[in-house]
Amino acid sequence: MTKIVVVGSGVVGLTVAHELLKDETNQVTIVSQQFPTDFDVSTLYTSPNAGANWHSFASDDDIFTQEIDKIGYFKYKEIIKNSPEADVTARTDVHYVPINKFNKVYKGIKKFPWFAYGDMGKTVNFRELDESEYDTTKFAYAYQYDGLVIRTSYYMTYLLNEMWKMSGSVETSNSRFSLRRGTIKKLLDAYDYHHLGKADLVINCTGILSKELIDLEPEEKEKVYPIRGIVFVAENTTGMKKITAVDLLDPQYPEERLYFMPRREGELIIGGAYQVNNYSKVVDPTFIVRLITRCKYYLPQYKWDNLNIIRTQVGYRPFRKGGYRIERKGKIVHCYGMGAAGFQSSWGCAVKVVDLVNDYKNKSKF
Ligand SMILES: Cc1cc2nc3c(=O)[nH]c(=O)nc-3n(C[C@H](O)[C@H](O)[C@H](O)COP(=O)(O)OP(=O)(O)OC[C@H]3O[C@@H](n4cnc5c(N)ncnc54)[C@H](O)[C@@H]3O)c2cc1C
Repeated sequence: MTKIVVVGSGVVGLTVAHELLKDETNQVTIVSQQFPTDFDVSTLYTSPNAGANWHSFASDDDIFTQEIDKIGYFKYKEIIKNSPEADVTARTDVHYVPINKFNKVYKGIKKFPWFAYGDMGKTVNFRELDESEYDTTKFAYAYQYDGLVIRTSYYMTYLLNEMWKMSGSVETSNSRFSLRRGTIKKLLDAYDYHHLGKADLVINCTGILSKELIDLEPEEKEKVYPIRGIVFVAENTTGMKKITAVDLLDPQYPEERLYFMPRREGELIIGGAYQVNNYSKVVDPTFIVRLITRCKYYLPQYKWDNLNIIRTQVGYRPFRKGGYRIERKGKIVHCYGMGAAGFQSSWGCAVKVVDLVNDYKNKSKF
């Protein structure tokens, strides 16, 4: 048997632990400062503060990330079909490109994501909208595809429950799965957190806080940085049913965005912000005023008056210069730096981590 400690219970750590537990020769402990069931969630715990949807950001030549995101798309579709309790909901995802962005940034050339083409284009039912389907005085073009929305904390709790099922419903002294609350100062300390004795391997899924680990390589700490996001959670009285994004360009507020995710039970996520290296928890009160003004201008077909905003969520997208770190160094596997894509990439990243763990096991003849 292989004893593995996963540090972190964000969407990345949970999905990695889930995939490791599918191998009955693995015994997994998740140790974490915060869990999805916590009432008071820190801004440094990114996953509960996300939207979240699937919209791969991989560039046309980034096959590595495309493959990772593809795995996530198929996995979420399977979850939608078989596990309503996961609170992942199929929704059309529509994307509008305003005329100023088309002219100034895209230089008059229509740009579509990589998943618009080939087999993936067919899988996601990608199509450019006809001009009759949007306001041509505001938008240069628009497209849609079969997307999905994830109710984040709920979904992560589902992952936890799936892991308990895999390890047997009752926690015994030799269960294959366990949770431990704790803050790891050094990854080297994490080996001692396994519920069955000293661990063989540690998986680092600490997100933005990887920067704080004493024994992370100094050059690696330098690479990790936050892009702050802000979303408002409202009661969805607008009538909006599709995930909707306006590819906003506001030269006065270049770090502001405009997107919406209608969740199944009647919450509407309204975003957002994309603020590089911003660790503040404070939200400028004029921000929501600008957001609603943009809603009324770009999307007047929905009801924006008297919107009941339930809460404001601030989170730091855990970016890493050079992209995701999925790498084994001796008895530590790193898996962090998923930036704005932790939900859509989590299943694909987990597959890569399992491969690294299996490679280690083969070489060490467990
Ligand atoms: C507003 C917003 C909207 C977003 N929308 C989307 C979206 O639509 N789709 C998408 O795919 N992604 C989205 N993202 C990005 C996504 O949320 C992140 O990429 C993802 O949550 C990162 O997950 P993680 O598990 O790496 O980190 P986290 O969720 O931050 O988890 C890290 C875990 O490690 C624990 N931890 C850290 N350090 C230690 C330590 N020393 N000891 C013990 N435990 C520790 C923490 O307590 C936590 O449990 C969004 C993010 C934001 C902020």
